[in-house]
Amino acid sequence: MLPASVISATVRPHCGTPTPPGERVATLATPQVTDGQGHARGFGGRELYVGEIRDAVMSEGLACPHCHGRRVVRYGKRKGVQRYRCRECGRTFTDFTGTVLHGLRRRDLWLDFCQCLMEGLSVRDAAERLGISKNTSFAWRHRAISALATADSHCMCKGLVELAQLPMLRSFKGSKVPPDARMDHLKPWVSRYHRVYGHLIPRPRLITLLVAVDRAGRTRAEVVPRGEILTPTLSRMAVSQAEVCVPGVGNRFRFGAGWPGGVRWIGGLRRRIGRVGGGPLYHVRNANRLIHDFVEWMRRFFGVATKYLLRYFSWHLRVAALAGSGSAAAPKLLFLEMLGRGPMAVGLRV
Ligand SMILES: [Zn+2]
Repeated sequence: MLPASVISATVRPHCGTPTPPGERVATLATPQVTDGQGHARGFGGRELYVGEIRDAVMSEGLACPHCHGRRVVRYGKRKGVQRYRCRECGRTFTDFTGTVLHGLRRRDLWLDFCQCLMEGLSVRDAAERLGISKNTSFAWRHRAISALATADSHCMCKGLVELAQLPMLRSFKGSKVPPDARMDHLKPWVSRYHRVYGHLIPRPRLITLLVAVDRAGRTRAEVVPRGEILTPTLSRMAVSQAEVCVPGVGNRFRFGAGWPGGVRWIGGLRRRIGRVGGGPLYHVRNANRLIHDFVEWMRRFFGVATKYLLRYFSWHLRVAALAGSGSAAAPKLLFLEMLGRGPMAVGLRV
């Protein structure tokens, strides 16, 4: 069953009370996606109303975001945005408290900004299109993608879980490189072929992006120091009963005392010595493809600081899932994802 917020983003309802224009938060101004005959694809979803955000955020009823108290009263309204007061802690909040829209002045541009995110525009290009400053564009990007990463951090993979890892060098882009991670003295080919010359590179630089994806499409990623035992990290990404599929060749996966749900080694020597049963169901193709697509998509950014890598990963997941739909509602669905109420956040495949 789709949450109401997602239905209204994808389908224009034929009945029901019209949403008051005074409560409109944003209207998508970028040209509509059309099919070959010039007909608009998708329905509605080009406007965003306060009521829709309220429905999505308070899907379990009115509660104080500060103390989770239920004794909440209405406390005035401004431009369609309701203000509330909690009788338990005495603090006030609005429909936007705790969301990406909290404290923003130009909320009316937010759907268009989501469109820029869908297109993977640079900070500068998005700023130019929306007529905002570069700093605002950068701040909005990180506000948006950190909300996506937060929504993802609550997800746990279940059942058969594919694992893949991507060895990387830690990037300190935008901040000072700590003395023990400096690489100025190294020849360029050492860092380029860091998988081979890992022993020449300072330890803090050697990291791995670990990706887990289950057969329902639930996806998690973590950054781990290279060579670390993965069991503790994996226990934050997948339930303990999950059976993990791991490539046995060329990827150094370490599980220490093992994984409670069991490990299936795919291909390679370990299979030949009979440690696992295989079969067509056990593979890591989805996880490998995800990493491949992510690496390709990331080229446009010319390097991203590692502390932000998981945010970019969450962003890429949404773009990959929503862009394919070609729907004019994609920016709005992306916004619902930021509220933790989009189709992916509630476990639906797009
Ligand atoms: Zn409260």
